[in-house]
Order: sequence, then C-alpha cells, then structure tokens
Amino acid sequence: MECPGCGSTALSQEVGPEWPIGTSLADAILDVDVDGRIVLARNCWTCGWSEERVVRVESIDETSGDPDVVERRRLLDTLTDTLEDVEDTETLERLLEDVRARRTSDGSRES
Ligand SMILES: [Zn+2]
Repeated sequence: MECPGCGSTALSQEVGPEWPIGTSLADAILDVDVDGRIVLARNCWTCGWSEERVVRVESIDETSGDPDVVERRRLLDTLTDTLEDVEDTETLERLLEDVRARRTSDGSRES
C-alpha cells in the first residue's frame, strides 16, 4: 500500500473507534454489532496524508442454526458493506492479505 500523496509505504492503518490500537479490520468486523460503525483510518508518516473511512453496519442476518453458518453470514454481510466502501486496489489487497493471514494463523477455528 502506498501513500497517494507521496508514494511512501510507511502508512499506518488503524481501526476505530472502539477497538484498541492494533486491532485488525477483520477482528473489528467479527466484533461489530448492528448499527455499529467501523472507522478505518490511514495515516502517512512521511507527508502527513490521512484518510478515514467509516463503515456502518445496517444489518446482520443471523439464523438460529449452525453457529458457523451464522457467523459466516454475518461476516459476509459486513464484508460486502466494507469492501464497497474501499476504492483503491491496494487497500483491497491489504485486506485480502489480512484475511488470508488470519485463516493461516487460526487454522481450523478453535471453539
Ligand atoms: Zn505520504
């Protein structure tokens, strides 16, 4: 991911407002409630460029069935909203890496 202002790759990416510094977007998505908001803030340490994108969760469909199905459905709904709000390819790539890294590190879900 490069800064659109200066091309630096020294960008920070933080998720807010209610998650601690260092929380990944994927974790925030798993944690958010209906009507909750996720703020994705990016800052460039080189030129000072910054951007915030706010994702509001309008609905989470949950069924009273298999918990894995419920979580999957909720995640997909939220991801759809989130990704529609992201315009630049590099952010999408970063998110994809994040998701893949989580899948790798989590392995099969611990329950
Ligand atoms: Zn910059």
